[in-house]
Amino acid sequence: MSHFPDQTRYETAVYRRCGHSGLVLPPISLGTWQNFGAGNDFDAGRAIVRRAFDRGVTHFDLANMYGPPAGHAEDVFGRILREDFPGLLRHELVVSSKAGYEMWPGPYGRGASMKHLIASIDQTLGRLGVDHVDIFYAHRPWPDDPMEETMAALAQIVRQGKALHVGVSSFSPERTRTAHELLKREGVPLLIHQPNYSMLNRHIEDGLLDTLEELGVGCIGFSALAQGLLTDRYLDGQATSGRSLDPQGPFNPAALTPENLANVRGLAAIARRRGQTLAQMAIAWVLRDPRVTSALIGARTVEQLDESLDALNNTAFSPEELSEIDEFARE
Ligand code: NDP
Repeated sequence: MSHFPDQTRYETAVYRRCGHSGLVLPPISLGTWQNFGAGNDFDAGRAIVRRAFDRGVTHFDLANMYGPPAGHAEDVFGRILREDFPGLLRHELVVSSKAGYEMWPGPYGRGASMKHLIASIDQTLGRLGVDHVDIFYAHRPWPDDPMEETMAALAQIVRQGKALHVGVSSFSPERTRTAHELLKREGVPLLIHQPNYSMLNRHIEDGLLDTLEELGVGCIGFSALAQGLLTDRYLDGQATSGRSLDPQGPFNPAALTPENLANVRGLAAIARRRGQTLAQMAIAWVLRDPRVTSALIGARTVEQLDESLDALNNTAFSPEELSEIDEFARE
C-alpha cells in the first residue's frame, strides 16, 4: 500500500541549515526510540510517519538498538520506507541511524570500535532495506575505544557510500572538538551533534553550543519534551497512559518530584499566556537558539505529533518571557 503524500507539504514548510553544511533539516524531526517496538501497533507508527511527512517533516531519526527489541524500529521503519516511500520519495527523506549501545552478545556487540561500527552499519542497512543512510552517528562516547579508530570507521563508512554524513551523540565539547579534528584529517566533515536538550536539561548551554558554532557543526537536540514531562500530561502528577506507566520503559518516575512538577506548572502557565500548550512552548524554546538546527521529538499518536508540529505557529519570545521561563527551566 503506497502512501500518496499531501501535495502541499512543502508550501509552508521551512528548513534550517545544519551547521556550515549543504544539508537543511526541518525545525522539528521525528525520532523512533519509543513507539516503534514490537509492542506497538504497526499501523499507528505508520500513521505517525505519514502524517509527519505530509506536514513537511523530512528527517527521521533511528538507532540500531531502538525497539524494543533492538533492531525492531529499523525493521518497522524499513517496511514503511518500502511500502509508503518507494522510488524517488526516499530522496525526500533524511534518515539517520546510530551504533554504540549494546546490540548483540560478546565484546564486539557494542562500543565505538572499527569492528562494531562497520558491522553495525551493514546490519542497519539490511534492516532498513536501503543502500545508505543520510547520517550515521557514534551513539555515545566510549572512553576505552580510541577516538582515532572511531572516526576512521565513520570516515570509512562515508567513503564506502553507506552514509552521506556522520555525527556524534552525547559527546562533551572536548570530545566533539577532537572528533571534528580527526574527521577533518580523514577528509570527512562532522555534520551534526545530537545531545539531550530541553527546558529541563540545559547542559549544552555550558560550552557545547559555543563549540558547535565555532566548528560549524549542526545540533539536533533530543527529547525536547523531556520524554513527555514538558507536556500537559503530568500537570496533575502521574499520567494515566504512556511510557511512565511502563516499568521496563525509559521514563524515570523519580523525575516527578514536587520541585520538577512545580517548575512544569510554572512553565505551563507561561505557555497558556502565549496561547500555546506546554509541549508547543517547549519545542519553540529549543528552537529560539539559531545554533539548534532541529528539535528531535517523539510521538505516540498522530494527535501528539500534530500538537507538537503546531509549535511552529508561535516561535517568537520576548526578553521578558525568556527571563520568566529561566526561573522554571531548570533540572
Ligand atoms: P520527547 O521528549 O519528545 O518525548 C516523547 C514523548 O512525549 C511521547 O512518546 C509521549 O509520551 C510524550 N508526548 C509527546 N507529545 C505529547 C503531547 N502532545 N501530549 C502529551 N504527551 C506527549 O522525545 P523522546 O524522549 O521520545 O526522544 C525523541 C527522539 O530523540 C528519540 O526517538 C530518538 O530519536 C532521540 N533520542 C536520542 C538519544 C541519544 O542518545 N542520541 C536518547 C533519547 C532519544 P508517551 O509515550 O508517554 O505518551
